[in-house]
This record gives sequence, C-alpha cells and structure tokens, in this order.
Amino acid sequence: MNYIHSTIAQLKTSSPAQCEFYQAVEEVLESLEPILENSEKYKKNAIIQRLVEPERQIMFRVPWVDDEGNIQVNKGYRIEFNSALGPYKGGLRFHPSVNASIIKFLGFEQIFKNALTGLPIGGGKGGANFDPKGRSDAEIMRFCQSFMSELYRHIGPTTDVVPAGDIGVGAREIGYLFGQYKRLTGRYEGVLTGKSLLWGGSLVRKEATGYGAVYFADYMLQARGDSLQGKRCLVSGAGNVAIYAIEKLYQMGATPVSCSDSRGTVYHESGIDLNLIKCLKEQSRDCLSVYKQTHPDAIYISVNDYPKDGHAVWRFNAAAAFPCATQNELTQADASALLSGGCLLVSEGANMPSTKEAIDCFIAAKIAYGPGKAANAGGVATSQLEMAQNASMQSWTFEEVDEKLKQIMKNIFVTANDTATEFGEPGNLLLGANIAGFRRVADAMIEQGVV
Ligand code: NDP
Repeated sequence: MNYIHSTIAQLKTSSPAQCEFYQAVEEVLESLEPILENSEKYKKNAIIQRLVEPERQIMFRVPWVDDEGNIQVNKGYRIEFNSALGPYKGGLRFHPSVNASIIKFLGFEQIFKNALTGLPIGGGKGGANFDPKGRSDAEIMRFCQSFMSELYRHIGPTTDVVPAGDIGVGAREIGYLFGQYKRLTGRYEGVLTGKSLLWGGSLVRKEATGYGAVYFADYMLQARGDSLQGKRCLVSGAGNVAIYAIEKLYQMGATPVSCSDSRGTVYHESGIDLNLIKCLKEQSRDCLSVYKQTHPDAIYISVNDYPKDGHAVWRFNAAAAFPCATQNELTQADASALLSGGCLLVSEGANMPSTKEAIDCFIAAKIAYGPGKAANAGGVATSQLEMAQNASMQSWTFEEVDEKLKQIMKNIFVTANDTATEFGEPGNLLLGANIAGFRRVADAMIEQGVV
C-alpha cells in the first residue's frame, strides 16, 4: 500500500540509520493494511505519520565516577512516544547496545502494548548505553544517581511514569533511581514502579512478565483445545522474564528444558534447575557456563559454537518456545528448526525477539504465535496495579494481584483473537494485536485533535 510505504520511506530520511525502529514500524504498519484500506479517517487525520514520530525525545549526558576514580560518560535517553491514552509509561534498559534506534523501537512497541492492556497509559521508553556487568554496587548507585539527576525533571506520576523491567534494570537499580528522585524533588510518589516490597512495591511485579507470557500461551492453547500440561518448552534468556516464565511453566505442568544468556545456552533434558538459575542470575550474577558444575548431564553451548544463521537454543525439539532474552534472537533458520522439531506455540516474553522472516514462518505454519506486545504486556499491566495500590494506600495479596494479571492476559488474548477474526484472519494474533492496539490509540488521537 503506497501510504504505508511512503511513510516508511519518509521515516528513513527523517530518522536515518535506525534499523530496529524501522523493523518495529514495518511490522505494525504492514498488518494495519486491512483497517487503513477501509477507513479514510486515519489517513485524513495523518494518524500514521503522527504515530511514528515521538512526541518528545530527550537525550542527555550521564557522567559518573568509577571505583578507580576515573570519570565515565554514558548517553541517556527518554522517548515520550505517545500520550493519547494516558501518561507515558515504559521502562528503562541499561545495556551497552542501547542507542536511539533501540529505545525508539521499544517505545513504539510500548504504545500498542499499553493500549492492548485496556489501561489508561501512553507509551514511552528510556535507558542508557551503560553496561552494568562487572560493576560494583557503588558504581551502579553513582550511575543511577547521575542518570536520575537529569531524568527527574521530565517524569512525574501524571506525566511520565517509569516502570522497572527491562534488560539491566531490576529492583537494585529502581531503588537507587527512586532514592535520587526523592532527594531531588522531596516527593515520595508513584513515579517509578517495580519498587521493593519494603517501600511501595507490588507483589507479583517481579514475576509478572514471565508469568504473563505463560498465561498468554495457555490461553492460546486452550483456544485450540490443548494445554501446556506435559509439554517440553524451550526458553531463552536467564534474566527476570525467563526465570519467571520457567517458574510458571513448572507450575502449569510443563517442562522447561533450556535457558540462555549473552554467552551461551544450557539444555537440560530432565528440566532446568530453577533454583540454581535464580542463584546464578539473581544473586551471584554469574555466567551460565557454571551450570554444568552442578549438572554434568546438561549440555552447555557457547555463543562461539552457535550455528552461523541463528541461535543454539532453538535447535532442540520441543512443543513450545518462549524467547525471553532480546530483540532478533530468533531468525528464519531458527523458526524453520523449531517447526521441524514439532513446535506448536511461540509466546514472546522479550520485545521483538523474532525477526520478520521468522514471524512470517510462524504465521504461514498457522502455529499459535503470541507477539511480544501482547504476550509480555503482563509487566506493564502489573506496574499499573502497583500505581493503583500506591494511590489508594493499599497492598493487595499475591493471589489478588496474580488473579488480576491472569484476567488482563486473558482480556488481551480475547481482544487480539476477536480482532483477528473480525478482519478475516482467525488465529493471526499479530494482526489482531496490532489492529486492536492501533484502533484504541488512533481513535483517541482523533478525538484529541491535532496535537
Ligand atoms: P534481564 O536483564 O533481567 O535479562 C536479560 C537476559 O537476556 C539475560 O539472561 C541476558 O544475558 C540475556 N541477553 C541480553 N542481551 C543479550 C544478547 N544480546 N544476546 C543474548 N542474550 C542476551 O532483562 P529482562 O528479563 O527484564 O528482559 C528480557 C526481555 O524482555 C527484553 O527484551 C525486554 O525488553 C523484555 N521485557 C521485559 C519486561 C520486564 O518486566 N522485565 C517487560 C516486557 C518486556 P546476560 O545474563 O549474559 O546479561
């Protein structure tokens, strides 16, 4: 469709060299064809051109002093993408690969993800090209304090809320960021979520994204008369999302047999040792290669030995796959290997983990495919539940929050599934999620005028 292609071409000129961002935009816009073709109002209101341009992009210097007394300088970002549905909301990523393209793709995805939850939240994202690996707690604290010394002036509980939960940002970082926000503003308010349970955090926030991706998978299977019970599952990543996806898979009677980190993959035929992974990644912050010291029967594959066209973690046979590490970690060759190995379901815990070609394979094979913006929305939704508890000075039980999370994931599934059917592609949850998210945001934008 010319309208879509010309928007993408224009974007490549106005925002050069941002390939991850183009990838996210192309994936969404191509699936909007059925709704854009039949409705002049979106074209007339230049909704697509407005959607792909962030409302505001903030880039800033983050200087800090390391333990040796050297001055380090990183680059910080906050992209306030779209506030049609509510205050900007989206987490922070601290990773050396962070740049404007990565933060923009994450912010763009966040608009539709947040819209799908049905909650009143807009889309944003932030981060820095800071590498927390190997840094002491004191260095992490100084970095977080410097980062917040600039960010605090742009955020607020009714303007831009920063939930925890992305690569390199967990409870420790949120603690340091919140402490500095409080010191600078003198306000103790719900501007950050993912807080510690000791001071305003919500039960289930830590588990929410991983649990949510598994609930979403279960709803996809239920709709096909199947369940996770007894299924062997491949999981990638070994961070927050992967760990709690593994935990929930065990609770639902499935067997997760793999996990991975940036240096390699573990495959354990009898099932991943969850307690060991929690110890290695949540406490000692170790590399997965030490897993074999406890389990000599497991297989460890270093990234140096990965297939040239993909990732070792997807080359084992299993009924389901949960990519929970990072973007583009599942290629076309990986998708073909999964399908030949009997994979019936992919539920994306990570953001944009499958390449466009891999997604095309899943859609063509008509397996149950849950795109990240739907399957991993449990984290941001539970952040909203944390804000609701903060605002009403309440603390809900684990069971109460978990029940709400389950219901939100079910609603997201039903919305995406019904929308896919409405647009003549039953079961195509990518199309359903993109159109449903788009429709909510776009209609709100039209009602709010040209702003
Ligand atoms: P963590 O930092 O807790 O864990 C990330 C995991 O992925 C680690 O095991 C890390 O390895 C691995 N990893 C990171 N980069 C690479 C890479 N380039 N190649 C291979 N492995 C890599 O992050 P999260 O678990 O929070 O986030 C994972 C994904 O989930 C991201 O895509 C994020 O955007 C998405 N997400 C997270 C949410 C949340 O609530 N946490 C919410 C929604 C989406 P290592 O241990 O070696 O660093």
